Amino acid sequence: MLLNWQSHRHLSEFSTFGIGGQIRFFATITTEEEAIEAFAHIRKTSFPFFILGKGSNCLFDDAGFDGVVLLNRMDSISFSENFVHAGGGASFSLLGMQTARRGWGGLEFASGIPASVGGAVFMNAGAHAQETSTSLAKVVYLERSGRLVEWEKKDLAFSYRVSPFQKMEGMILSASFELVRRDDARTWQKTLLEQRIRTQPLKEKSAGCVFRNPKDSLGAGALIDQCGLKGTCVGGVAVSEIHANFLVNRRGGTSRDVLDLIAMIQERVYRETGVFLEPEIKIVTPHG
Ligand SMILES: Cc1cc2nc3c(=O)[nH]c(=O)nc-3n(C[C@H](O)[C@H](O)[C@H](O)COP(=O)(O)OP(=O)(O)OC[C@H]3O[C@@H](n4cnc5c(N)ncnc54)[C@H](O)[C@@H]3O)c2cc1C
Repeated sequence: MLLNWQSHRHLSEFSTFGIGGQIRFFATITTEEEAIEAFAHIRKTSFPFFILGKGSNCLFDDAGFDGVVLLNRMDSISFSENFVHAGGGASFSLLGMQTARRGWGGLEFASGIPASVGGAVFMNAGAHAQETSTSLAKVVYLERSGRLVEWEKKDLAFSYRVSPFQKMEGMILSASFELVRRDDARTWQKTLLEQRIRTQPLKEKSAGCVFRNPKDSLGAGALIDQCGLKGTCVGGVAVSEIHANFLVNRRGGTSRDVLDLIAMIQERVYRETGVFLEPEIKIVTPHG
C-alpha cells in the first residue's frame, strides 16, 4: 500500500480558475507503481475517476467530484542527446524554458503555458503555430486495465487541441520529445513569453482560452470582442478586458457563473455573427 488516500481536498486548490468543490477520494501520484496501485483500486470500485494535471484547462463543479481524482506529480525532466524525457506531471512551461536554454528548438511556445506535460499532450496544447504533437516522439501510457503501453508518435493522430488520449481511459505517465538544434531558441522563447505577458490577463484566475478558434473565421477572442462583450460579468466571473477569450474569476465566482457566462457569449456571438463557439475547456461534472 503506497498511496495516501484523502477525502478532504477541494478541486479549487488545483484549478487555475480557483473553482471546484470537494473530492470524494484524492491521491497524488509520484511513481509508476503508485499509478498502478491507484488503477487497481479504481477497478475494484464503481467510482468515476479523473486525472488531474495542473488544472489549467478545466472548469470543475462547485459540487466537487464524486469519485477518484489522481493528481499527476511525476515531474522528472532528463535530457539525452536531442531528446528530452519528462514525467506527465512535470511543468510544461519549465520544459519549454529548459530546452530553449540549452539551444534546443521545438518547445519554445510552452514557456508560460501553466500546464503539466501530460495535460499538454492530452490537449495537444499549442501557440504561435507550434503544437505539442509536433516534437512529440513517444508517450508511456497506463490504461485503466493496468496495461502499460508505449505509444510511438507515428501511431497517434493529433489535430487542433485534439489527441487520441481524449478517447482513452488511463494516465499519461511520461512523454519524450525530439528536439532540433536552434541557436536562437532562447531568444525566441523569451519573445513569445513577453508577447504572452503583454496580451493575456496572467495576474488573474482563468483557464486560458475558453473557446476553440472556429475554422474559417476570426479567432474566438476577436468575435467576442466584436460583440462588445469585454468586461461583461455574471456573478464573480468576467470577460477579460485584456483578451476576450479569457474568462476571469474576480470575486469568488462559481461554476454556475462560468457556465452562464459561456451560454450568454455563445448566444450573443451566434446571433451577431452566425458562428457557434465551442468550449475548449473541459467541463468536469461531479460524476465525470
Ligand atoms: C494563463 C493560461 C494560458 C494558457 N495558454 C494556453 C496556450 O497558449 N495554448 C494552449 O493550448 N493552452 C493554453 N492554456 C490552457 C491549458 O494550459 C492547456 O490546455 C494545458 O494543456 C492543460 O494542461 P493541464 O496539465 O493543466 O491539464 P488539466 O487542466 O489538469 O487537465 C486537462 C485535461 O487533460 C487530462 N489530463 C491531464 N493530465 C493527464 C495525464 N497525465 N494523463 C491523462 N490525462 C490527463 C485531464 O483529465 C483533463 O481532461 C492556458 C491556460 C492558462 C490558465
